[in-house]
This record gives sequence, C-alpha cells and structure tokens, in this order.
Amino acid sequence: MKPIIYADNAATTRLSPTVLEAMLPFLREEYGNASSLYSLGRRVRVPLEEARETIARCLGGQNREIFFTSGGSEANNWALKGAAAFLAKNGKRHIISTAFEHPSILHTLDALKREGFSITLLPVHENGIVRPEDLQRAIREDTGLVSVMYANNEVGTIQPIGELGAICRQKGIWFHTDAVQAAGALPIDVVKEHIDLLSLSGHKFHGPKGIGALYIREGLHFPNLIHGGEQESGRRAGTENTAAIVGLGVAMEETCLHREDTSRKVRAMRDRLLTGLLSIPGCRLNGDRERRLPGNLNLSFAGIEGESLLLLLDMRGICASSGSACASGSQDPSYVLRALGVDAELAKGSLRLTLGDLNTEEEVDILLREIPETVAHLRQMRGWHS
Ligand SMILES: *Cc1c(COP(=O)(O)O)cnc(C)c1O
Repeated sequence: MKPIIYADNAATTRLSPTVLEAMLPFLREEYGNASSLYSLGRRVRVPLEEARETIARCLGGQNREIFFTSGGSEANNWALKGAAAFLAKNGKRHIISTAFEHPSILHTLDALKREGFSITLLPVHENGIVRPEDLQRAIREDTGLVSVMYANNEVGTIQPIGELGAICRQKGIWFHTDAVQAAGALPIDVVKEHIDLLSLSGHKFHGPKGIGALYIREGLHFPNLIHGGEQESGRRAGTENTAAIVGLGVAMEETCLHREDTSRKVRAMRDRLLTGLLSIPGCRLNGDRERRLPGNLNLSFAGIEGESLLLLLDMRGICASSGSACASGSQDPSYVLRALGVDAELAKGSLRLTLGDLNTEEEVDILLREIPETVAHLRQMRGWHS
C-alpha cells in the first residue's frame, strides 16, 4: 500500500502524540468526577481548569469566559441561538452574517428565520473577503447580532475581524466569530478585536474530536445551554469530558507556542505547491492570494469533475477535498465558491488542498507530480483542450 499523503487538514487533523499522552491518564486511573469532593475527583479539577486557562490565555480572554462544548458545531449553535433568544426579548430580531459560513451557522440561521428572525447575508466578493462598509450599510435599528467567520474553511480567506468587531461594539451589537479554522493558525485577541462570542474546536488543531469551546465575553447576558448540574458555571451542565478537555488544552498550548514557526513552514510548502499547480493550463486559484490561511489552497481546473479527481487522487494515496467535508456527497457545486462568484462549471472542478505542519517537502514533490498527471488524464478522457 502506498503511504498516505494527508492534505485535508481543514476537515480534521491528526491527534498530536503529546496530546494523546496527556489524555490517557484520564481514560485510565484518573476517572474521578471533577465535582466530587474526595481527592480522586479534586485531582481532575486542576487539569480541567488549566485547560481553560490555556485557552483563555491564547485568545486574550479570561478563564471565566471559556465554556467547553462538544465541538465547533455546538459552540456555533449555542452562540447564535443563545444570542437570538436574549436579543429578541429586547426587540432585536435582525441578524447579519455572510453567505459562506459553515453549515452549522447557515442552518442555525435558517432555523432562526423560521422563528421569525430576519437574516441578512453579506456578500463575500470575488476575493472571499467581507467588506466593513457592507456591514455598516446592512446594520438596522433592530440588528442585535453579527456573526462572521474568522477564516473560511473552503477557501481559507481571512476576514477583517478587528474592523468588523469595532463597528459592532460601537453600535452595541453582539459580535460572534466562528474561529474554528483560525484558532490553529492565526493569532487571535478577543479584546483587541472586540469579539463578544467565539467558537473553536479541538480536532482542527491536533486535539481530539468532540470537544471545543465557546468564549462568552463577561457581562453578556447569555442564556444557558444545558440545564442540570453546576458544570461550566451552570451554563452547560453534564459531567465534564475530562480526557478531551485536557487534550484540548494541550493542543491549544502547542499550537500557540509554535504558531509562527508552523505558519512559516506551512506557507512555504503551500506557496511552492501553488506555483507548481498554477502552471497547469486552465487552473486558477479561488479566493484572495495573500489573505488566506497558510495551509489553504483552493483551485479550479477547467474541464474536470472535482469528484472524479478526488477518487483518482485517493487511488494514488492522496487525501484532498472538493469542498467541505460537511457538504460533500452532494453533486451541487460548492455554495462557498458560488458565493465568490465562481461559475458553476468551474466550481464543480475544484480541489481543496489543506497542508499542515505534519506535511513534508517530499510530499509536496509527490503532489506536484501526481496532481498534474491526474488532471491531464481526466481531461484526456473527456476530450478537453485548453
Ligand atoms: C469544522 C468546522 C466547524 C465544525 O466543528 P466541529 O467540531 O466539527 O463540530 C465549524 N466551523 C468551521 C469553520 C469548521 O471548519
């Protein structure tokens, strides 16, 4: 069997060995309930709070503003539904977001719309970046919440979060950002960027799956998610997933510590890959060239089907994506690329490659050989000529 080249780090990432080691005791002998008063339980409380502190520190927030969730989707649901419930009581029934959010945002907005909320989706333009002046224009008297993702999961484009946050703060509008893709790659500062609510997820930066967090700025009157015990200050009840929380903390710590070096290394590999692949005729890059996540490449190839390309690449041991994992399985062109104005045919011929710190220059060499060959092969079968 060929060794696998994993170039789909936006879908999920490999668990870090240090993270695994840190988690194991909590799946074995440290099985106490953190709420128990005897030492077996109390011993578990400490690492949980350390994990909270690490996350708070990495985001520029305070410990009591971090709440563990089951992942990014839950954090996003809680942020939007929680904000909506509170704001509606104050007559604010208008929410602004963007056309290319993750499904856990867009589908939650659909549900809120059915409950009578009015939703405005900002355009993301050809470069995949929201313009602050568009936000200014969309704000109404009854706007209560703005939710704009920090970095997009398909095209990797990075939004002007600080500017958008400043606009919202000035108007007294709550500002949420889905930072699930950004948290592993970009420096974030919830205070400087005027962020009220922020979602993140462990498995996108070498942490375990099924754990994430919602940052809730202190002072926000925010409704509880799960009623029950006093865990998470009573906001999200249920016995803590101790191993996963500890894993999340260690993953965040490693990420924060090595972010600059990792970004530089990953960006260099990505840029070499980009330069090589752009020399394929009929190949174009989707989304802004500079303002994108260091590992992200989203390319369209004229005359091919993205799905067929993925299948052939899989046979060559290459894991890539044609869009987001959450949207795959459908034959429709990616709604993200459509939001960038990419025409439907080209959007269908798209390939997302997301590199991470575990990729190597040798793998880039292989990708630079295998992808052009596969594209040429597919085009030959379809009788395509540039
Ligand atoms: C992966 C992802 C999510 C969902 O996170 P889960 O932990 O898998 O629920 C949300 N938003 C973005 C941008 C993502 O990439």
